[in-house]
Amino acid sequence: MKKHQVIVIGAGLAGMRAAVQTADKFDTAIISLVYPVRSHSGAAQGGINAALANTEAGKDDSPERHAFDTMKGSDYLADQDAVLRMTTEAIECIYELEHWGCPFSRTEDGRINQRPFGGAGFPRTCFAADLTGHTILHTLYEKILEKGVTQYNEYFVLSLVKDGERLRGLVALNLKTGEIEAFAADAVIMATGGYGRIFERSTNAIINTGYGMAVSYWAGVPLKDMEFVQFHPTSLYGKWILITEGARGEGGYLINNKGERFMEKYAPKAMELAPRDIVARSIETEIMEGRGFDPGYVHLDLRHLGREKILERLPGIRDIAMTFAGIDPIEEPLPIKPAQHYSMGGIDTNKECETELKGFFAAGECACVSVHGANRLGGNSLLETVVFGKIAGNAVLRYLDGLEKTGVVAEGEIESEKKRIEEKVKALMSRDSGVDHIQVRNELRQVMSEKVGIFRNGTDLKEAVGVINNLKDKARDIYVRNKSSRFNLDLMRALEVQGMVEVAEVIAKGALRRTESRGSHYRTDFPKRDDENWLHHTIARYTEDGPAFDKKDVVITQWQPQERRY
Ligand SMILES: Cc1cc2nc3c(=O)[nH]c(=O)nc-3n(C[C@H](O)[C@H](O)[C@H](O)COP(=O)(O)OP(=O)(O)OC[C@H]3O[C@@H](n4cnc5c(N)ncnc54)[C@H](O)[C@@H]3O)c2cc1C
Repeated sequence: MKKHQVIVIGAGLAGMRAAVQTADKFDTAIISLVYPVRSHSGAAQGGINAALANTEAGKDDSPERHAFDTMKGSDYLADQDAVLRMTTEAIECIYELEHWGCPFSRTEDGRINQRPFGGAGFPRTCFAADLTGHTILHTLYEKILEKGVTQYNEYFVLSLVKDGERLRGLVALNLKTGEIEAFAADAVIMATGGYGRIFERSTNAIINTGYGMAVSYWAGVPLKDMEFVQFHPTSLYGKWILITEGARGEGGYLINNKGERFMEKYAPKAMELAPRDIVARSIETEIMEGRGFDPGYVHLDLRHLGREKILERLPGIRDIAMTFAGIDPIEEPLPIKPAQHYSMGGIDTNKECETELKGFFAAGECACVSVHGANRLGGNSLLETVVFGKIAGNAVLRYLDGLEKTGVVAEGEIESEKKRIEEKVKALMSRDSGVDHIQVRNELRQVMSEKVGIFRNGTDLKEAVGVINNLKDKARDIYVRNKSSRFNLDLMRALEVQGMVEVAEVIAKGALRRTESRGSHYRTDFPKRDDENWLHHTIARYTEDGPAFDKKDVVITQWQPQERRY
């Protein structure tokens, strides 16, 4: 059995930032499905928000203004104390990254440059061209190497182990050998990212299946606000690869088949830089009402920005457009359509990243603090990963300092959970026929995109719940064709599907329950926000018969809910 004082699951920005925080004092290990620098954080293009007030247009910015924009963007469902904490600590976290070597793009006078982003009153998004996530990820990777964090790469965490009192360890599949391995830990931080791939059209990496959320949910830790799913306005039509909001931040236009900048109708002031929920719905409306281009997209036009600006500020998206669509945005507009992008909901934590379960913490996209409420602003997620990664690390330091003794291993519990998982995997591998797990995955992704998408209604959602329940049953009877032990991705995909159906059920049932429209959750049968009945977080707890729902208060400090206008 492998033993560490701290184990972080997930080596994206949140996980690595947390590990940097604990590694000086406690023996820290990171377990990751992929090599750290291949985490989805590396795909982040546009930037990371902080009220540095570094540009002329942004000189009056402040953490309070950043917090207000975030609150308004969230449709007032975010917890205001947590938001203000994030926007305040943002500044130090960005300079910390800079001092660790992160190569941010610069202003003429050498300061960190900032571009405008959606829903923000000032240009406050720091960036490294359009490769921001990649540069921060590499900066933090160097840092975990420097700190001597132990790495277990290409391990798939399948289960958490707890005793009556607290978290004790975990069980993972070593993809390199096919062995099931046990790990003991005094504290575990979950940082496994989002679930985008449960939708057909998603900008997310293939590894983003939400399994970390499912593992936590199975261990009895509730999920929060899962019905709030972000659809990014601009993904490249047909490939669904993200075209960063930075493209609109730099001045790109959205154009329909009549040649109109249609955002004028929907958000006359903010135009293309309205929050993502509003822009995504506007694009879908244009397409549904026949003002899109065949077979169903609108144009993102960057041509007027000019060659020089596109090459300097948006080289990555030009490369993506040329490689995957054969289109050079310097010469032609890009065909775009919204696609699933981000999970506002996740593992329920307080603003110290603590969960209900002692010794178990969560940070980053898999967690819900909540700082994004019903709709996240662009640039706030990278920020959340570094701010709350650090906070989670600090919470673990406090927790371990408070323990009488570290390194007490619950051998019995861990061994018996390891045995249970071994038997489960053995049973799955020994079956020679049954349900094709890829078919379950495909049907799930289709129903989520079609019935639990940007525009929702009771009839569709009920249908989706029926399909998902059926797929959940089918997922119990799946089988694996590949019987080898090394790098058995067939087995990995089969296991993933069992988590995906679980997460999808919580999303769809949560969306069916919430009979109002707020942020990203838009019900055509309940088109108004209903603060009287629904200004609260949704809590979902695992039971064998599906999620048991409850609610939790939203923390409101200084900003009373208002109608959102842009
Ligand atoms: C294309 C794209 C562009 C984006 N651009 C921006 C942007 O410009 N600005 C912004 O603020 N946000 C952006 N976002 C959102 C932001 O990048 C993510 O929310 C954030 O990076 C998530 O970081 P994370 O550390 O929580 O998870 P991730 O970076 O997704 O890392 C998850 C880690 O968990 C590991 N893992 C997962 N499951 C398991 C398991 N079962 N066992 C072991 N390990 C596991 C993976 O190996 C990985 O290391 C973008 C997202 C996408 C998809």
